[in-house]
Amino acid sequence: MKILITPKSFKNYIEKTYPLLESLGYDIIENKSGRTLTEDEIIEVARENVYGMIVGIDILSERVLKNCRDLKAISKYGVGLDNIDLETAANLNIKVKNAAGSNSTSVAELALALMFEAARRVSVLSGNVKNGRWDRVMGMELTGKTLGVIGGGQIGKEVAKRAKGLCMDVVIYDPYFKDFNYLREHNITLCQSLHETLASSDIVSLHLSLTRETRHLICSETLGIMKPSAILINTSRGELVDEGSLYTALKEKIISFAAQDVFSVEPPPPDEKLLTLDNFLLTPHAGAYTSEAVERMALDSTNNLIEMLRSSI
Ligand code: NAD
Repeated sequence: MKILITPKSFKNYIEKTYPLLESLGYDIIENKSGRTLTEDEIIEVARENVYGMIVGIDILSERVLKNCRDLKAISKYGVGLDNIDLETAANLNIKVKNAAGSNSTSVAELALALMFEAARRVSVLSGNVKNGRWDRVMGMELTGKTLGVIGGGQIGKEVAKRAKGLCMDVVIYDPYFKDFNYLREHNITLCQSLHETLASSDIVSLHLSLTRETRHLICSETLGIMKPSAILINTSRGELVDEGSLYTALKEKIISFAAQDVFSVEPPPPDEKLLTLDNFLLTPHAGAYTSEAVERMALDSTNNLIEMLRSSI
């Protein structure tokens, strides 16, 4: 019986996790490629005798799942499950669980770092000095500005309460939000309308999952509602944003700046036109990449896998 483990950063925590899996009689197959596995590579190693997987953003499509004939459980090393065909997994009786909350603090902190970068352009200022130019860029204070948090789940709530600590006005838009104690405790407003949230926010930060419903939530129409001075932060998933429309909006100053940690294709092609813009920045899906979050993701995803396998074999 084997377990396939694909995330690159998992290797830092094998001393704490492998013995747990090995004590249950599982051999471990590691991803030694140094990158995310392709669908064909997953099928090749997991066609038979692989009962469980711990995966990052590897694509587990219908074709992959149907070809991994002994697979019983998939444990996500992280939160977003959009890379896994959940419908097919359910039909094939394959259990799926994410490491909910394991990286919320780290992603929330990166979202704030991107807000500060957009407001004060620290990397540009530092680049100027290193290139021999003592040049400043006019900044903007975050204090008193309105932050619209779209998606009030684990990460959105962490961002919202930290922003309150920065003396920002914070509204959350999330049609499924139920944690009213949280709103009272942190003096945060829940807005019932996406349109109103976008129209009133100086900074819009996306913290919702990618689904059929939320794909291209940010498009030419919704960008058009935002203030010309607005900053868009996306640490969730690239496909929440229609990148063609974002390019036009940034180029034509329909909004002022966008900072993303995610992209529809990661890494983006070298000729990606958004990368040519001064008012766009992209970090390499680094939101959860802190030593604290990576350790929690490794331990939680291992324990989740063990729990799922125990109940299905
Ligand atoms: P979560 O499930 O706790 O929260 C998602 C929230 O979005 C929920 O409260 C849900 O009600 C809300 N939502 C759903 N549809 C909505 C809609 N149409 N409009 C507004 N809100 C809606 O998830 P989370 O842990 O907070 O993660 C949020 C996102 O962050 C996910 O997309 C995840 O993939 C991404 N993520 C990115 C990184 C990174 O490294 N950049 C790391 C972890 C998670």
